[in-house]
Amino acid sequence: MSNDEQIAHADRAVCAGSGLCAYVAPNHFEVRDGVVAVIRARIAPSDSTQVTEAIDSCPTRALSLRAAAEPSGES
Ligand code: SF4
Repeated sequence: MSNDEQIAHADRAVCAGSGLCAYVAPNHFEVRDGVVAVIRARIAPSDSTQVTEAIDSCPTRALSLRAAAEPSGES
C-alpha cells in the first residue's frame, strides 16, 4: 500500500446537506436524507483533484482527507 493513499472523511454532524460535494465528486459523495454519505472513501490518485475540489467547496468544512496509512492507535 502506498503512503500517498488518502481516505475521504465526512463529519455528518457538521454537514448542511448542500449537495455540493456530491455534485463535484459524485463517485465519492452523495446526500442521503439530507446528510452527506461517503460512498467511496479511498481516493485514487486520478480522483484526488476532484475530491480536493469537493472538500474546498463544502460550505461547512465537513469534509477532510486522512492518510490511509495513518496509525489507528493500534500497534
Ligand atoms: S458540500 Fe459539505 S455541507 Fe454540502 S452535502 Fe457535502 S459535506 Fe454536506
